[in-house]
Amino acid sequence: MRQGFKQKNIVIIGAGFSGILCAQRLEKKTAHLKNISITLIDKKPYFTMRTEIHAAATGRGEPENITYDLQEVFADSPNVSFFCDEISEIDFAEKTVKGSVNHYAYDYLVLAAGSKPNYFGLKSAEENALPFWTYDDALALKAHIQECFEKAVDSRDEEEQKKLLTFCVVGAGLTGVELAGELAEYIPQMCRKYALPQYLTRVVDLDAMARPIPNLPNKVSTTCNSILCELGVEMIMEAKVSEVTKDALVYEKGGKTVSIPSSTVVWSAGITAETITEQAAKTLDSRKGNRIVNLENLQAASDPSVFVIGDNMYFVPKGKNSPVPQMVENTEQSSVLAADNIAELITDKPGKKVYKPAMHGCMISLGAKKGIAYAGIENLFMIQLPSIPAQLAKRAINVYFLAPVFGLKKLPDIAKHEFLAQRTTD
Ligand SMILES: Cc1cc2nc3c(=O)[nH]c(=O)nc-3n(C[C@H](O)[C@H](O)[C@H](O)COP(=O)(O)OP(=O)(O)OC[C@H]3O[C@@H](n4cnc5c(N)ncnc54)[C@H](O)[C@@H]3O)c2cc1C
Repeated sequence: MRQGFKQKNIVIIGAGFSGILCAQRLEKKTAHLKNISITLIDKKPYFTMRTEIHAAATGRGEPENITYDLQEVFADSPNVSFFCDEISEIDFAEKTVKGSVNHYAYDYLVLAAGSKPNYFGLKSAEENALPFWTYDDALALKAHIQECFEKAVDSRDEEEQKKLLTFCVVGAGLTGVELAGELAEYIPQMCRKYALPQYLTRVVDLDAMARPIPNLPNKVSTTCNSILCELGVEMIMEAKVSEVTKDALVYEKGGKTVSIPSSTVVWSAGITAETITEQAAKTLDSRKGNRIVNLENLQAASDPSVFVIGDNMYFVPKGKNSPVPQMVENTEQSSVLAADNIAELITDKPGKKVYKPAMHGCMISLGAKKGIAYAGIENLFMIQLPSIPAQLAKRAINVYFLAPVFGLKKLPDIAKHEFLAQRTTD
């Protein structure tokens, strides 16, 4: 222990992908120091493997297999204290965060609170659409689908049955197309379970853009579109949602207003920063979606005691003209770099390592068997993998990422979930 070394508190808000990795890296980097306290806070007692919630909502694998108890994850980490608490306020002047259970003083704060759905001011969507971002959202959607089938079985009115069995996804970005693909496999299975004819059902994916996954090249969108159409999804592009009610999805397309009778509209049309970050954005320098502007060492541009990582950050890498993507690869790399710089700063070193993210594309599952991978080394080469290898690659990468985070004893469970989970209608 260094003589006269004053206790330093590092508080991390959010135990998602980035918060967990940051806490683990900080613990490793500060293992030689004694007066360091790393406090990780999340409003949930468990971590959610968000990238799998579409599978959990549609009966593929056991839902509980995509959550990990956070006390257990940090059971062997003596320098990391996990608190289940919802932070409602950050006092940047006092360097304190306030939760419903405790107040936490910090020397360095890491903001890693992630995102929430963005309704773009459409009140009726906020009130009537089902959100799709958390584990609870996935369970709620699964229960809602079951309820729709139960009501459809009891109904003698075919129009009512069709409304109950029309499942609309708003948004054809990464999460929207993944959910649409899963629904296209799940709904026919549910029809068999409830002995209802499949012609009563529809799965619709709708977006204001001209093509699905518009952030990827045209040819990738075309493949995505044809896989989803083959699975039976109706793709409606260049359609702007104007209203969501309990019984319909209303949109404008080509100057016409169209209403789809539907009891299920899932909102997957965009994200904005979580409420606590939204609040922080009123004090800290921020951009679109309440993302907080970072310096290149990932300190918040307007407060050197705050680091911002994962979905919450707004950082435009050198030579680029858009901010880092709100995806897992960015969470992994930003959390490690921020931890390294904090570990330096608390020992009076410069903490000036520069964030140079290296992205390798993305992998999208479309149902249990198909997918798209557009992967490689950014700015050097990118290739599109065929559908089945793409799906397998996505699962292998999940195992590769999760095993070191949650420990080797979890490896068999993780691999079992990724490769052996069957879809059931229980
Ligand atoms: C269905 C779906 C599929 C996806 N698929 C992919 C994919 O295939 N590939 C990919 O790269 N990305 C994918 N993403 C995006 C990816 O999940 C996010 O980029 C990633 O989760 C962001 O990590 P994060 O740590 O910044 O935030 P999160 O993982 O969202 O974690 C934030 C944490 O903060 C906690 N929190 C929030 N507010 C508070 C508060 N006030 N107090 C305490 N705790 C709080 C939350 O409970 C949460 O645990 C997908 C997302 C979804 C929803």
